[in-house]
Amino acid sequence: MKRTKLFTALLILALLAGIMAAFAPQVSAEAKSSYITSLKDVKVNEGKTKKLTLKVSKDNGLTWISGSKLKKEFGKITWKSSDKSIATVSSKGKVKGISCGSVKITAKTKKGGITASCYVTVRKTPAKYDKSGPKKLTLSGKTEDHVITDSYCYVEGDKFVLLVEPDIDLPGDFAKNIGLIMDTLEEMVGLTYDGWENPRTFDYKNEFLASADPWEGVSFGMKVPIYIEVDREDAGYIPSANEQYVTIFDYALFSMDFWNSVPSYRDNAWRRGSGLVSYYTLAHELTHTLTDRYTYVSRTTTEGSATYFGYEVIKTLAKDNAEFAKSLEETWLDTEVGIEITAENAEAVFLDDFSTLSHADRGAEYVLGQYFCEYLAESYGPNFMRDYLLEVKKSGFDGLYGVYTDKDKQQLVDCYKKVFGKKVFEKFGKWYVKNK
Ligand SMILES: [Zn+2]
Repeated sequence: MKRTKLFTALLILALLAGIMAAFAPQVSAEAKSSYITSLKDVKVNEGKTKKLTLKVSKDNGLTWISGSKLKKEFGKITWKSSDKSIATVSSKGKVKGISCGSVKITAKTKKGGITASCYVTVRKTPAKYDKSGPKKLTLSGKTEDHVITDSYCYVEGDKFVLLVEPDIDLPGDFAKNIGLIMDTLEEMVGLTYDGWENPRTFDYKNEFLASADPWEGVSFGMKVPIYIEVDREDAGYIPSANEQYVTIFDYALFSMDFWNSVPSYRDNAWRRGSGLVSYYTLAHELTHTLTDRYTYVSRTTTEGSATYFGYEVIKTLAKDNAEFAKSLEETWLDTEVGIEITAENAEAVFLDDFSTLSHADRGAEYVLGQYFCEYLAESYGPNFMRDYLLEVKKSGFDGLYGVYTDKDKQQLVDCYKKVFGKKVFEKFGKWYVKNK
């Protein structure tokens, strides 16, 4: 979750900077005299400098003076930064970006009592593009648009953008396979990835990559951003409130050289063969991004449906694709529900939503939700998740993933009853006793 927190902090910062910039006068009348002043807001990259120019007009903006003329008439200008840890400003008005953020820069003349201010936004230095081509990266390269930067390889497909950190070997038709998973999922769930509340066109290649950390700028795009990273802590999917993206950590993606260079991982029992992708994990995470684009639902439903569809998609694709088939062999789904489910308690268990269990246990809510999906598919046909999600959306549910009041839980359970009948949980309980 640490990326989410960082992202939220950056988002708030960016919003604040935007709000401040919006209210900063381009032409201010702060001077106590009849003069008007101009000091423009600027953006500067970390470690870079930009010269600010104070301009003064005595005839209401018809003509302006600056530089030596201004100095002659009003004396030396004193420059001041509101936060030197973000940006400094020299005695000559040269501003230097120190770290990401926004500061107010004030200029004051020695004579005439003229003051003016502007806002300076400091951004990270954009990644440099290295046109020499992929280094350790293997991609099918047929339909995708590749850009290699010094920090990432960027691949753009129909519905996704893929960012891959250096030193990861992507086996086979990795980018193409993501497209296949997404298409198949859309078909199975009956929903599309562009079902966004407020979709906007997003210039991924320029906006997304115009930063050392592209995730700072990700929000409200149509395409699903997928990030494959070398990070042994942040495993799996990282959702946040207003934007849905996927961070995938998969140890199998790294080369044996990589693993052998990490002492604590060298002899790890769970280390699978390098070059093998867990497409099931990818499909699971991609199900989240698909359903979250419509509405948030309970943990049992969201993890259960991701487990169910993730597995179904790979099973379907494995029929005529060797890469998926190989990945499927390595997929194990052997978790137990751990609770005796009956016709009497099924609804109560769903209401409880396993909130007393730690999510990190990765168990009960996944497999119970998966069985529930199996039951719904058998009894109501393939579009059960679509119908449920649309009903939840229609009901005006406004809870957030992982944060449910009792009222939220009741509302989500009632949506199930509305779509599949009042006795849906009782029937599921009976099905469970018989089948599981
Ligand atoms: Zn999940």
